[in-house]
Amino acid sequence: MIEVFAVGGFLEIGRNMTLIKYKDEAVIIDMGLHMDRYIEYTEDEDIEDLTADELMQAGAIPNIKDIMKYKDIVKAIIPTHVHLDHVGAIPFLANNFKAPILCTGFAGAFLNEILSEHDFKLNNKIITLNNNATYKISKNITVEFINMTHSTPDTVMVAVKTPEGSVLYCNDFKFDKSPTLGEKPNFEKLKKLKKVKLLIVDSLYADREGKTPSESVARELLKDVVLGVNADKNTIIITTFSSHIARLKSIIESGKKLNRKIIFLGRSLSKYTQAAESCGLVRFSDQVEIVKWGSKVKKKLSQLQKEKSRNKLMLVVTGHQAEPKAVLSKMAYNGFFDFKKGDVVVFSCKVIPNEINERNRKRLERQLEKYNLRIFKDVHVSGHASKEDLRDLITLVKPEHIVPAHADVPKSEAMKKLCIETGFKNIHLIKEGQKLEIK
Ligand SMILES: [Zn+2]
Repeated sequence: MIEVFAVGGFLEIGRNMTLIKYKDEAVIIDMGLHMDRYIEYTEDEDIEDLTADELMQAGAIPNIKDIMKYKDIVKAIIPTHVHLDHVGAIPFLANNFKAPILCTGFAGAFLNEILSEHDFKLNNKIITLNNNATYKISKNITVEFINMTHSTPDTVMVAVKTPEGSVLYCNDFKFDKSPTLGEKPNFEKLKKLKKVKLLIVDSLYADREGKTPSESVARELLKDVVLGVNADKNTIIITTFSSHIARLKSIIESGKKLNRKIIFLGRSLSKYTQAAESCGLVRFSDQVEIVKWGSKVKKKLSQLQKEKSRNKLMLVVTGHQAEPKAVLSKMAYNGFFDFKKGDVVVFSCKVIPNEINERNRKRLERQLEKYNLRIFKDVHVSGHASKEDLRDLITLVKPEHIVPAHADVPKSEAMKKLCIETGFKNIHLIKEGQKLEIK
């Protein structure tokens, strides 16, 4: 019997964490923040020096009280990629388990970035593996990574193999056959998986028709705007997800085509770029200037606006969700930048739908409009699979049981409907604190 504990991220979006137990051993997959609640609590997405108790109380990290009885049998903690809703609770919770962290290079480098910046002392050893690695945890449990595409590089699906079959964990992914950074999804490996007892699957867009476009489509959308707009006399300002290294690469390519000086401004941009460089994914620092800290950002911006060549600048800034502490908000509200009529602002992202983000973004857009700027929104494609990608996945791996994850109730219901119409019947909607026994 394989037991699966929904610790966080089931019938809710955020704080992903699952414990998978076989006999007297267990592994944990993902240990993430609930971003809405975390940002509500801290006003920013940066990892702060807070205690696990206060964050757990605020619902900003998974509630691990129920699984603490298994703390001594946990053999590994496996974050699937660097997004904070998968990796962000590690600094607060991982010390409860005497187990190493197994992850890909980018996730490992990013964790080291966070840890070196703060006072977190992690007792867990970080072991980085390649994106298609097989790692034997014990006689009974082997973990297999399967390279996947998503909105951040080095993302994997994880197959936890036991003598009774596998649990395949598929949060988060999309099937992108033309990625602009990294390898295509490893379909061969998915095809070869045998006896998939349970599929835990990203159902965020189970209710969205069709397939999610490739990141190469986003690159074209971006080029179309940035190279197409006539902004010869103006500064171009772009904001996107800081962990979206492929998108940042496309932004740099566009900026270089225009012969603009490219400057990255903001803490999280700098952190993710450094992590991506230290694990050898990209080398941006040869091509762009990176300014990390708030005080230096302010100084840099005031120095730049005095330059005559402000029409030769491309500023890449934090603040795509209009977070109050991010650089774009400070440019708009705190006078960090002297906008000129006709300056271009590109949001290469979408608004993550929740009350705070929507309110912040509306307010920021109204503020930006006061400067008579040219605003381009939603220059973006998602990193999550849509309905037809999900249908392809379940058809490919033929799981005995399916648990929708990374989705609220309506989206999980949409996944259930899709599974049933595709011919799969054992669908389980479980929520935080619940357990599923697979025989
Ligand atoms: Zn993600």
